[in-house]
Amino acid sequence: MQDCIFCAIAKGLIPSSSVYETPSLYAFLDLNPANKGHTLIIPKAHYSNLLDADPQLGNELIDAMQRVARAIITVTGAEGFNVIQNNGRAAGQEVDHLHWHIIPRFANDGLTLWKQHSYDSQEEMNRLATAIRVQVMH
Ligand code: AMP
Ligand code: ZN
Repeated sequence: MQDCIFCAIAKGLIPSSSVYETPSLYAFLDLNPANKGHTLIIPKAHYSNLLDADPQLGNELIDAMQRVARAIITVTGAEGFNVIQNNGRAAGQEVDHLHWHIIPRFANDGLTLWKQHSYDSQEEMNRLATAIRVQVMH
């Protein structure tokens, strides 16, 4: 897509710190890492977010995530990692080209991903689960 920074990165038109590549995917270091080694995995094709993506990417993506995460753990000594993928501004998406963040984690590294809440009642929770379960089948 024209003017998309991650399309330009995937095509090599803008420099990036490449870590891995497959026929459909490209992985490179995030410029502003949550922790050092923070890597982005993108499809080379432009999808604005997860809802546009070709489900056929699945196998290649999981394999790439496993390879990249294992390599990050080995190289950085990370004790764990997060996979995060933001969809929409409200979710913190800044670049409108689908990407997965692989973030190395260390005990007490101070990163907090979200604050957890609770439901008002079991009934509210049941109603919401039912509404989503019905909608998923549409
Ligand atoms: P998101 O907020 O999920 O859209 O994440 C976008 C990410 O892309 C941010 O973590 C940025 O630091 C990162 N980013 C933006 N431009 C570049 C770039 N040219 N090279 C590497 N990472 C980038
Ligand atoms: Zn793009």
